[in-house]
Amino acid sequence: MIIDLRSDTVTKPTKSMLEAMLTAEVGDDVYKEDPTVNALEKRLANMFGMDEALFFPTGSMANQAALKLHTNPGEQVICDKYAHIYNYEGGGASFNSGISCKLVDGHRGMFTAEQAEASINPPDFYHSPLTSLIAVENTTNKGGGACWDFEELKKLRKVADTHNLGYHLDGARLWNALIAKDENPEQYGELFDTISVCLSKGLGCPIGSVLMGNKEIMKGAIRVRKILGGGMRQVGYLAAAGLYALDNHFERLTEDHKKAKEIGEVLSQLNQIKKVEPIETNIVIFELNDDIDETQFLNILKDKNIHIIGMGSNKLRMVTHLDYTDQMHKKLLNLLSAF
Ligand SMILES: *Cc1c(COP(=O)(O)O)cnc(C)c1O
Repeated sequence: MIIDLRSDTVTKPTKSMLEAMLTAEVGDDVYKEDPTVNALEKRLANMFGMDEALFFPTGSMANQAALKLHTNPGEQVICDKYAHIYNYEGGGASFNSGISCKLVDGHRGMFTAEQAEASINPPDFYHSPLTSLIAVENTTNKGGGACWDFEELKKLRKVADTHNLGYHLDGARLWNALIAKDENPEQYGELFDTISVCLSKGLGCPIGSVLMGNKEIMKGAIRVRKILGGGMRQVGYLAAAGLYALDNHFERLTEDHKKAKEIGEVLSQLNQIKKVEPIETNIVIFELNDDIDETQFLNILKDKNIHIIGMGSNKLRMVTHLDYTDQMHKKLLNLLSAF
């Protein structure tokens, strides 16, 4: 039995999900003729109360399209130093949109409205890049699955309005935040200009992300997706997985969160571990003591068929997910307790 906790992206489609995929009605989505893709987009747009939604192969591509839609070359996006758009999208912000990132020194991937305001370059000071967008992430990935305080997100909306900036949410794991904080999609749809969500993380789809926004900004989205190479044909087979996941894999995220907390409790008892970061959702980040070698620690776990990943600076990460069973959980807790 291999216990793979590297990410919630390692899940494989369940049998029922595969059946839903196999029986999907499809068409050419580049002509917008795939009924299943259209249904998924409509369902998500309704769910968030936003005008339009567009299916993308990856979350990175959905975010990159959003950056392009909000900015012109030479401009600047405000984001946290931990942001996925800055750290993990291959430098796409500069490559695709010709923009730079103004990094905010936030806490666990989140920052305050005051910090964002202080990061805005005065628009008439033509020596600096023009600030045109604020981008936030919920839950935060590198920040350890932390959830934003919704009141702070509202304050950021005000900052964006005052300074005429766009406001984008990288909601790759927004599903986890909605469950953990008992929030609803509409309140996010109301607040943001654009939102990207992933179907391939906690929801357990093999592929798929969706970008949502109002009519005005989404006008150019399909062209940008085409430019990025994301126009796909009979992709309803994949969208069917998304529809299935929304029905069957959303509420169960509480189980992942519960397991993550239980792992954290055991880890915090271990002598080898300096600190376990607060666990709000399905991500557990912990720091090893200075005298413990990271590679050695990872290899000991690997020998026991437990796969986790290093995040740099002696920090390690475990992510619970759909394929991490009760049986695996029991085994892992026993193993860690005996460390
Ligand atoms: C996973 C993730 C994405 C998208 O990743 P892809 O692998 O491109 O689908 C975007 N933002 C965050 C915060 C993520 O965790």
